[in-house]
Amino acid sequence: MAQAFIADRVVTPQGTRRAAVLLEDGAGGVIRAVCNVGELPVNARVTDFGERALLPGLVDTHVHINEPGRTEWEGFATATRAAAAGGYTTLVDMPLNCLPETTTVAALELKRAAAARRCMVDWAAWGGAVEDNQADLLPLARAGVRGFKCFLIYPGCDGFTMIGRKQLERALPAIAESGLPLLVHAELAGPIDAAMETLRDADWRRYATYLASRPDEAELAAIRMMIQLCREYGFRLHIVHLATALALPELSAARAEGLPITVETCPHYLYFAAEEIGDGATLLKCAPPIRGAGNRDALWQGLREGGIDLIATDHSPCPPEMKRVDEGRFDRAWGGIASLSVALPVVWGDAVRRGFGLEDLARWMAEAPAARAGLSGRVGSLQAGRDANFVVFDPEAEFTVTAERLHTRHAISPYVGERLRGVVRATYLRGELVYEGGRFAGELRGREIRP
Ligand SMILES: [Zn+2]
Repeated sequence: MAQAFIADRVVTPQGTRRAAVLLEDGAGGVIRAVCNVGELPVNARVTDFGERALLPGLVDTHVHINEPGRTEWEGFATATRAAAAGGYTTLVDMPLNCLPETTTVAALELKRAAAARRCMVDWAAWGGAVEDNQADLLPLARAGVRGFKCFLIYPGCDGFTMIGRKQLERALPAIAESGLPLLVHAELAGPIDAAMETLRDADWRRYATYLASRPDEAELAAIRMMIQLCREYGFRLHIVHLATALALPELSAARAEGLPITVETCPHYLYFAAEEIGDGATLLKCAPPIRGAGNRDALWQGLREGGIDLIATDHSPCPPEMKRVDEGRFDRAWGGIASLSVALPVVWGDAVRRGFGLEDLARWMAEAPAARAGLSGRVGSLQAGRDANFVVFDPEAEFTVTAERLHTRHAISPYVGERLRGVVRATYLRGELVYEGGRFAGELRGREIRP
């Protein structure tokens, strides 16, 4: 029997309207059509969500799941539960902090084995481009990674090596040939080392010290270098977690030139501001750092003008003791913020205040990330032929974040205690309910997704 889901606000690439999402009969939860309610087959089994909004299932292209090897930090089981509670139905996993790092096909296969039968939602993998794996890049591409991630600076954790310009230039022909994007952690050590020289005797409990240690110039220098290499080698360049809005004019100029560049920012850069971060508040340590309130406004402007394509969480949890909350020293705390379960309302509240709508949310958090990971044919929008992944969203409701709502392995996040707007009522994966009102489906249906 045909199955359909109706809501007053179904958010599609063509706009938002009262509509029905009709599934293919017995075809594994694929959308047959998004149509008017009057066009449904008479015998369709219908679920009507009334005035709630139906958003496409969100796609997060920047998640550190940390499994295999560091499952005590997060892992597939808990990350995908947090994702389901947050309205995410597809995660793309970063190749580092897991052991082994995803820099060879053998490591990718170990990750697949670790993920099997543990996932509440779907996932895919990024591969790593490190100092010595140039020969592994094309095999990784053939084995199904969605692109490559590299660090131009020490990644904060041993194992996954940063890549220097010389090694990068050895890797770029293969990356260009693969047609897959290169995701770059864009900070260069030079400006950071110079800043550190002046901070030897600084008070590392102060957020201002940490902010000064990772200046805008570190991002700007890295982005300039990558634009130059992009022009030279013709690969697809993706700047992850852009924190400084000062880079936007140069990035936009490069794109206007025709270079294939995309840009992401993260919920924490759009929500918090340096002026509001208390000393010792190491839960807010991440790299690049959260910058000032004027910069935050400029990032929103970047989203408005299209210079920033998408929002990804950079969900990067760790055991609580690594955040060194008692000590409060920013130089010793792990850099990473966990936000999978709350990122949607974190972004939505400010988006509404700044005059954006549900279509913008769907574009930034589902459609554009799916495109960046080469998964647009499968996920990221409510339209015929795509997986019936969607979020039942209540855009007007409010709630206060509690530790119980995080669903991550460790219930720590700087968002605990924040009052947010927009509640994820339910999440569906390929037409099946996986999360509703704080409860999860018993069956784990998540799997690796391929284009
Ligand atoms: Zn990251």
